Amino acid sequence: MKSYNDPSKDATGICKNCGKAITPEESVIVNGKLYCRECAAQTSHEKRLYRSRKDRILFGVCGGIANYLSIDPTIVRVVWVILLFVPHLFFVMVVIYIVLGIIMPLEPLT
Ligand SMILES: [Zn+2]
Repeated sequence: MKSYNDPSKDATGICKNCGKAITPEESVIVNGKLYCRECAAQTSHEKRLYRSRKDRILFGVCGGIANYLSIDPTIVRVVWVILLFVPHLFFVMVVIYIVLGIIMPLEPLT
């Protein structure tokens, strides 16, 4: 089996995402699975929790959570608003939102 990127080299593994044959130098292990460098960069980028730049009303926290979970940002906002009306939870949810707004990094420009 030859490397997809460099046919002069022997591949030792297969990328779990794109299926390309890869050499040990091209291999990256993410969460115990083997990926090529490009796929590892993509998966680690997608799985970071960022505040959203495009789906934002206040700080983009709900948009960022929705992005992370691959769901509609409106669903996250509706759930958040419902939780605000649960007795005793209003203050907690407001504090969590502000804390997340401060500690979550803003989505990098691509
Ligand atoms: Zn790959």
